[in-house]
Amino acid sequence: MSFQNLGLSSALVKAAAAQQYIQPTPVQQEAIPAILKGKDLLGIAKTGSGKTAAYALPMLDRLQTSRTFRNRFVKGLVLVPTRELALQVGEVFLSFSAHMTVKVKTLSVFGGVSINPQMMRLQGTDILVATPGRLLDLVASGAVHLDDVEMLVLDEADKMLNQGFEQEMREILQLLPKKRQNLLFSATLDNKVNAIQETLLQSPVVVEVKEEE
Ligand code: ADP
Ligand code: MG
Repeated sequence: MSFQNLGLSSALVKAAAAQQYIQPTPVQQEAIPAILKGKDLLGIAKTGSGKTAAYALPMLDRLQTSRTFRNRFVKGLVLVPTRELALQVGEVFLSFSAHMTVKVKTLSVFGGVSINPQMMRLQGTDILVATPGRLLDLVASGAVHLDDVEMLVLDEADKMLNQGFEQEMREILQLLPKKRQNLLFSATLDNKVNAIQETLLQSPVVVEVKEEE
């Protein structure tokens, strides 16, 4: 099994190989083809199983053919629980977009630092990786428009929900266009994750990678 077999374009396969991603992990093998088809997806797999590339690679691939590609506004929104993860996920998008013919701008935003530099850097962002509170602050200030979001990812959904972001997440969902692709990734499928996946996902493909014995 290779990344090429999963249906990714050569620019992404090449960028993945440059990051030493040669053999897709089990969650990547199942998630990537489904996301490329435009399906909603629930991905449950433990930490370290390769969930970031499982959504970042097909999101970038779909963005190349997105009908709103030329618009200035955010097309892919990734919600994460922490600053560290926001930065880490932003780096992954950056490295995977290196060989694409269309220029993709990714930005990571998070709380605990001043908002103004983030506001200034937002213009022309295609993929926004954000913690929920800071995203809502940026929306309130008029710096972010979410009307063009075509793909939403909740990463580490279990952590986000259990760190008190549930209300903010639900507020954000209200601000997004109804027609969009939703991807939810979590290490565990607890009651809160289950409740939000039921409201969020439309006939999802479910990928659950069980821990090896
Ligand atoms: P998770 O989000 O499931 O915890 P990550 O996406 O952070 O996992 O990946 C964990 C580590 O494995 C990272 O260092 C990442 O670069 C590496 N990795 C993920 N997928 C692959 C792959 N197919 N080939 C090589 N390394 C990979
Ligand atoms: Mg992860």
